[in-house]
Amino acid sequence: MAVAVRGKGHRASVQLRGWQRPVGRPRHQSLWFTGALAAEPDAEPNPLGGDATADVCVVGGGYTGLWTALRLLEAEPTLRVTVLEADLCGSGASGRNNGGVGNLWRSLPLLVNRLGADDALRMVRENLRAAEDIKAAVETYGIDCELHQRPSGWVATTRAAAPAWRGVVRLAERLGVEAPYLELTPEELREQYGAGPYYAGALQRDESLRIQPAKLARGLRRAVLSLGASVHEHTAVTSIDGAESGVIVRTENGSVRAGQVVLAANAWMAFLPEFRNDVMVVTSNIVATDPIPELLEKRGLTQRPGGFNTAVRVNTGGLTLDGRVQVGGSGHTLAYRNHITDLYDYAAADLVKVEADFRYLYPELRDIPVTHAWSGPVDRAESGQPYFGRLRADDRVHYAIGFTGHGVTSTCDAGHILTSAVLGRDDRWAELGRLYNATRRRTFPPEPVRSMFGGVISGALDRTDAAAKQDRDGAWLDRRVAGLATASLPRLGRK
Ligand SMILES: Cc1cc2nc3c(=O)[nH]c(=O)nc-3n(C[C@H](O)[C@H](O)[C@H](O)COP(=O)(O)OP(=O)(O)OC[C@H]3O[C@@H](n4cnc5c(N)ncnc54)[C@H](O)[C@@H]3O)c2cc1C
Repeated sequence: MAVAVRGKGHRASVQLRGWQRPVGRPRHQSLWFTGALAAEPDAEPNPLGGDATADVCVVGGGYTGLWTALRLLEAEPTLRVTVLEADLCGSGASGRNNGGVGNLWRSLPLLVNRLGADDALRMVRENLRAAEDIKAAVETYGIDCELHQRPSGWVATTRAAAPAWRGVVRLAERLGVEAPYLELTPEELREQYGAGPYYAGALQRDESLRIQPAKLARGLRRAVLSLGASVHEHTAVTSIDGAESGVIVRTENGSVRAGQVVLAANAWMAFLPEFRNDVMVVTSNIVATDPIPELLEKRGLTQRPGGFNTAVRVNTGGLTLDGRVQVGGSGHTLAYRNHITDLYDYAAADLVKVEADFRYLYPELRDIPVTHAWSGPVDRAESGQPYFGRLRADDRVHYAIGFTGHGVTSTCDAGHILTSAVLGRDDRWAELGRLYNATRRRTFPPEPVRSMFGGVISGALDRTDAAAKQDRDGAWLDRRVAGLATASLPRLGRK
């Protein structure tokens, strides 16, 4: 796939040809996204046909793009904001995720290491506030996204898995604050989690916020329309060219000339040279059952907390409001040169592994079929945190990328941060953006080394994970290689 970013002075020419449609069949969509679309049969995609102008053109209609459009219009109601989305708003990662509105407590050790204690704790607090911001926007704009709270846990699902929350709790104690984890006694663990493979665990003190992810994205789309934004779906951006009179965002059937541009195409723009060393695109996958509320009741599973399950690989998920069980697993398949194909809608081999995880985590449901499965691309950054900036070739083009597998909360902050960047404000959001950026330390190795190492490490992780689940150690070499996943792969390159 040809890519070029050529600077003409400070003028960019960016070819965005990362957009792919499946050939000869409809795109595989998530259960959440089809559910959200069914609830709004009259929504019109309104594709762009012809040439238009705007003050700000946002490329990508996921959470990042839509929160940015929303915050821009809240800050400056007369601004002309146009959102261009290649497919439908919310059809990307925003309409496919687990719906967990997470927090940064799990990242405390990394944040302290990169930022020092004060700034690390500040980021944790800002992130907790962002979850409240989501709640407030849902209320203000009347977004029906099934927002609710559920108990959330962090459990070790093999004997060998480290109780990682203890490190966070101890570090927090040393910093004079209290981490929100309550370690469960063996009796409490059995009571909460039943007879499954749960060896140790901690519950988050406050219940965590959950949403139907695609309904949040579609609700944000309606909110920005209500504030006067132009939203054009089925409108893939093909190139962005800098000119004296503005930045020209070209699509298949038209163009938008804008004063400033916000790139919010997430994993789909990670192939650009500006981003490809800092971001690695991997699959994230989810399997789900039909609604089985009576059965969950009968088998004593209605109180089972959601959250994180750590074997060697990590699973996320839990129960939905309508009584489904969903389990997610991430990072199995790496995209060569960050190019996204339709494998990133449905990664069959990865989904087989995630279904096996579901069977392992819920032995009580061994007779219940998995009825839905889908995948999505995750823009993994080495620090696990997003970063913000302007294209080197043209400072009128802003971006946010690197949300990794937990952008539900941080994309909300990204909306504020990008808004301040566009409006040229040096305020608390600009400061928060600088904090996120300061977490960056290393780059990923270039291709083909990245894919070669990635494939070897991923295989070793799978085998070590499988062995741990059978209460075995696994091969020595596999354990050593699997250990590189969190240690050496990012270290091959340094910023
Ligand atoms: C399976 C899965 C599970 C996840 N689980 C969680 C979770 O539980 N909690 C959590 O916090 N995070 C989770 N995440 C991550 C979270 O969903 C993302 O970080 C977040 O949605 C990113 O939002 P975004 O707007 O940046 O990207 P996206 O939602 O991907 O939006 C980018 C948009 O850009 C559009 N686009 C691409 N190319 C073009 C182009 N050329 N022109 C115009 N538009 C274009 C795409 O169609 C897409 O709609 C998960 C992700 C996945 C895939």
